[in-house]
Amino acid sequence: MSTIDEAERYNPYTGRRIVDGVDDPIPAAAALGLEPPRFCEHCGRRMIVQVSPDGWWAKCSRHGVSDSTALEFR
Ligand SMILES: [Zn+2]
Repeated sequence: MSTIDEAERYNPYTGRRIVDGVDDPIPAAAALGLEPPRFCEHCGRRMIVQVSPDGWWAKCSRHGVSDSTALEFR
């Protein structure tokens, strides 16, 4: 029996898989919500990113659209 967590997550700014105990730095602008994510956090695919005057949205071909309002970046 193993206790591997199946919920894979990826760093939305670097596209690297998030591993417990391994710190993957987030760019300062991104941490402030100024920079849209470029990779899907569920699968690590590169997303289509569109920046608009009131925020941004990003689309993964598998997981759909996420946007700045959903994350309450304002
Ligand atoms: Zn995805």
